[in-house]
Amino acid sequence: MPADFNQEQFAHREQIVDFARGELGSQLRDFDRTGTFPREDWERCGARGILGSHIPREYGGQGLNAVNTVLTLEALGYGCRDNGLTLALGGQTWSVQEPILIYGNEEQKQKFLPRLCSGEWIGCHGVSEEQSGSDALSLQTTATKTEGGYLLNGRKMYIGMAPVADLALVLANSDPAAGKWGVSAFLVERGSPGFSHSEPRAKTGTRTNPMGDLVFEDCFVPSEHLLGGEGIGMSLFTQTISWERAFIHAGHLGAMQHLFERCLKYAKERRQFGRPIGNFQSVSNRIADMRLRLETSRLLMFKVAAMKDADADASIECAMANLHISEALLACATDAVRIHGARGYLEEHGVERQLRDSIGGVIYAGTSDIQRTLIASLLGL
Ligand SMILES: Cc1cc2nc3c(=O)[nH]c(=O)nc-3n(C[C@H](O)[C@H](O)[C@H](O)COP(=O)(O)OP(=O)(O)OC[C@H]3O[C@@H](n4cnc5c(N)ncnc54)[C@H](O)[C@@H]3O)c2cc1C
Repeated sequence: MPADFNQEQFAHREQIVDFARGELGSQLRDFDRTGTFPREDWERCGARGILGSHIPREYGGQGLNAVNTVLTLEALGYGCRDNGLTLALGGQTWSVQEPILIYGNEEQKQKFLPRLCSGEWIGCHGVSEEQSGSDALSLQTTATKTEGGYLLNGRKMYIGMAPVADLALVLANSDPAAGKWGVSAFLVERGSPGFSHSEPRAKTGTRTNPMGDLVFEDCFVPSEHLLGGEGIGMSLFTQTISWERAFIHAGHLGAMQHLFERCLKYAKERRQFGRPIGNFQSVSNRIADMRLRLETSRLLMFKVAAMKDADADASIECAMANLHISEALLACATDAVRIHGARGYLEEHGVERQLRDSIGGVIYAGTSDIQRTLIASLLGL
């Protein structure tokens, strides 16, 4: 954590770390095996105010700025070993609540935000489809105007939390002739006629964060659940993805610190050839690289948060933060497995889970290739 934080921020961080250590992740090993979402932990996070960190108090949140929200999520990731849970928290915070806060009307904010902040509801973000991944706005799901609302048809794929979500923020095209400019955003409640989800799909990591499809078959969505007006989807996506891009890894930054400390301790304790393995330069180089990645990741993330708080244009910094932190976490997790040898490879020690959990980070919220492409285009290339 940057040294210029004040005492209040240090104390807040400690409280969140204590909460996460004491109250979250008690069934992680079983839930990781079975792909079970820890709903009780989610509700605890809601009751503790973590889910509403960045939402104003009048909508059930804590009214924290971006810096203190990131501080909270990072502390949570440091204290809690469940990366699927911290990913779910980050996903809802930046991809569901933030768009409602920015684009929602008063009625929508009053209706949805308090339920999401309290943990009563879970929100998911439905953009990706079979044929539109990185090229997200070329989506095929349609929204046809009908009396009093819209009929949605299509299928969203690879959606984190889809099997357990109570609310889906969905992008669909309400004017296919206009192409990407015809994309609109809708808030679809669980139980809406014509709305269903697939069974959870088996996946590599963050298994406590179940992934599935959202299916729309003549699903009626009332006009009041159109978010921000017809055709707003492209600007909504562009604006809100910058929040997701910048901060989706905040929890994992805390996990990176935990992993670094664990590796450092192990390198001092584990002895081979009559001395601690940390005395071998090939091991200590890995530890030094981990420390450097941690420091640079943290500086970048808090820099972006401060820029967001100052309403500065942080487009290039958001992409750099996403690229650097996700790749840094994956590199640290790979190093951690090597440093722990066979123990790193066994499920029972939890190091291999960190590696599995890290892989998705270089894919979601835009792959590393896409972040590089974006950085290059912002540099005029
Ligand atoms: C753990 C996880 C959680 C997710 N959660 C959600 C969610 O909640 N909601 C949601 O909507 N989606 C979600 N996704 C989907 C995610 O957004 C997409 O996987 C991602 O956008 C990439 O799309 P794709 O998988 O179709 O890959 P593709 O776009 O098909 O890309 C395949 C490969 O081609 C490369 N590539 C593609 N285009 C370019 C280009 N222009 N330049 C250079 N390289 C390129 C990519 O980098 C990649 O290596 C999630 C994915 C994962 C792994």
